[in-house]
Amino acid sequence: MNVYEHSVTLDKSKCTGCTTCLRHCPTEAIRVRDGHAQINPERCIDCGECVRVCPHKAKKVRYSKLENFHDKRFKIAIVPPSMFGQFERLEDVDIVLQGLKDLGFDEVYEVAKSAELVSAYTRLYLKTEGIKKPVISSACPAIVRLITLRFPYLKDNILPMLPPMEVAAHDARIRAKEKNPDLKDEDICVYFISPCPAKVSYIKNGFGNYKSEIDVVLSMSDIYFSLIGVMNDMPSSDTSSEAGMIGIGWATSGGESSAIFNDNYLAADGIRNAIKILDQLENGNIPPQLEFVELNACIGGCVGGALTIENPFIAKTRLISLKRYMPVSLNKIPDGQTFIPEDYLIEQMPDYVPISRLSDNFAKSMKMLAQIKQIREELPGIDCGACGSPTCRAFAEDLVKGTISDKAECVLYKHIREKEEENDG
Ligand code: SF4
Ligand code: SF4
Repeated sequence: MNVYEHSVTLDKSKCTGCTTCLRHCPTEAIRVRDGHAQINPERCIDCGECVRVCPHKAKKVRYSKLENFHDKRFKIAIVPPSMFGQFERLEDVDIVLQGLKDLGFDEVYEVAKSAELVSAYTRLYLKTEGIKKPVISSACPAIVRLITLRFPYLKDNILPMLPPMEVAAHDARIRAKEKNPDLKDEDICVYFISPCPAKVSYIKNGFGNYKSEIDVVLSMSDIYFSLIGVMNDMPSSDTSSEAGMIGIGWATSGGESSAIFNDNYLAADGIRNAIKILDQLENGNIPPQLEFVELNACIGGCVGGALTIENPFIAKTRLISLKRYMPVSLNKIPDGQTFIPEDYLIEQMPDYVPISRLSDNFAKSMKMLAQIKQIREELPGIDCGACGSPTCRAFAEDLVKGTISDKAECVLYKHIREKEEENDG
């Protein structure tokens, strides 16, 4: 089995064991043991919630820096639309694109351009007979990983299409070689400017059997500060945006859905809201006419990623102004095309990893479940997190699995038992 490489990690020297992250992790991946947080890699979806809430900045995201940048022969920057929401009073996307070239990139390719094509092919896909509906967007890697860990029955609902950043990387390589026929594959280095840790992990691990065409992942906040020093208001004429409102709209929640040109969609953002929707979808408790579901783990969509610098609502407001004078779209599929090119399709979805399974043996699982239920009834049931497990249910499960050994790790349980013994004595 492949080991999933995570981007969210812990700096133990900064962790005080305060339990803040434990109470915010949506997948119960965190425990606090021996005074420090621990992340269970099987459960983590790299959503970045713990990075946002840690008061001691002990949670980090692993990404690359622009080291050895000038050693690379041909450098392509893949820039997502959320980047444009980071700058105050940005009147023209071209200013950012030119800034990236001034930083040393040979080519800049907009994710928004590819997003417009992915939207067009999604419209085509939704007309395909026999597909499972509602179709769930595959663009947010934290949501896709969450489905593969917790919602196996929804796996077939995932749109089998590569996310726009990956299509952008693929097309950018092709274009670079067309423009520069002497370039070899190994001369090209594709950099993605990521707004979130989930996309960093996606690129490291690939998607099902698909290996990412992105070589290096940079943080949007790092690039923001580098760009501020080189950006000026006069982009050169050969750097001009290749996307319109539809592509830029993908940066915020609801943007992808509105591009399917069909009212039967649902868009939700924030990981807890997304989990509620997935629960309802799994239970069949949704409007029957729903055709498309867009879920973003971050509040506001990609503008809310843990590697951005701006408040997502401010970034969204800026993007609304920026889009005002843009054309609707600059990218369309060839007239009359009725198929989706293979380059856009995901051949194999990631496997389901049953994180909730207690044991591979059914009888043993049932026995463990009964033990968990029994222990849980003895616990105070207030989910305080003081024991280092996120809930009383998780504490009981940790005891049954043997990752903790003593019920007295629950301070309230211990206190109540001591009082009872005092009274008995
Ligand atoms: S929030 Fe988590 S990682 Fe940060 S100090 Fe508290 S326990 Fe440690
Ligand atoms: S990144 Fe998300 S899933 Fe992973 S440990 Fe942090 S809060 Fe939990």
